[in-house]
Amino acid sequence: MRFDGETVFITGGGSGIGRETAMRCAEEGADVVVADVDREAVEETTDAIGEAGGKASSYELDVRDAEALAEAIDTTAEEGGIDVLVNNAGISHPRSDMEDVDIEVRDRVIDINTKGVWNGCRAAIPHLKDQGSGAIVNTASLAGLIGMPGGAAYSLSKGAVVNFTRAIAAELGSHGVRANAVCPGVVETPLVTDDRDPEEWPDLRDRMAEAYPLGRLGRPEDVANAVRFLASEEAAWITGHALVVDGGYSCA
Ligand code: NAD
Repeated sequence: MRFDGETVFITGGGSGIGRETAMRCAEEGADVVVADVDREAVEETTDAIGEAGGKASSYELDVRDAEALAEAIDTTAEEGGIDVLVNNAGISHPRSDMEDVDIEVRDRVIDINTKGVWNGCRAAIPHLKDQGSGAIVNTASLAGLIGMPGGAAYSLSKGAVVNFTRAIAAELGSHGVRANAVCPGVVETPLVTDDRDPEEWPDLRDRMAEAYPLGRLGRPEDVANAVRFLASEEAAWITGHALVVDGGYSCA
């Protein structure tokens, strides 16, 4: 088992990629701690892990609240140690030209997607350094590597996550701690489907899938498997990497 006796702390674990990552790490023996702003959702994740025979606990918190996140991470570290931090909580925003983006929307996206990652790392890094081991995986996006028309604020937030990850990887290597990012293409989760008309979505999804050499959009497990790999000892000599998980979209 890849995470036997280890503790994995995941933000945004109440849905989509985060929930699937939590489930898959628990399957590999991890004691999973899931943090999410949505209490019901996070409890659904921990219940599902429990029903599958795994171990999980939860925090209801907003990653913008640096103090609450630090308290949860400190408690986790004190109780059983923290081996892996997955900074996954994130939001999108309605598509629009850059000059039409409301400042409030821009700030909310940066506060959650970028500063939320900072807050998680700020809290966990002292513990990881002290123990001289551990791994951080930040959920960035393909939009952090290539231009995404209509997604300027999202791209701004995710590009920052990619390069922040490289910076901390360089700082942490000598402490035995790794940091990597995943950069998914479009994955079918509530983040993508919530603001779409459910009747139109299947057709739209099929049209979007045509841009993907592998012929489909991503599934949460596609990304969760990549996160789990980067978090595990199998990736022992990989740090500062931004792993593209996009069904070939960016190479076509
Ligand atoms: P999702 O909406 O299914 O899940 C996101 C989770 O984060 C939700 O449970 C939500 O409650 C939680 N969350 C949102 N804001 C929060 C906050 N302030 N504090 C704590 N929790 C919060 O979305 P997803 O697609 O699974 O997205 C997960 C990550 O993957 C995000 O960072 C997203 O930007 C990234 N991503 C998604 C896609 C995609 O196409 N779905 C592509 C690239 C990157």
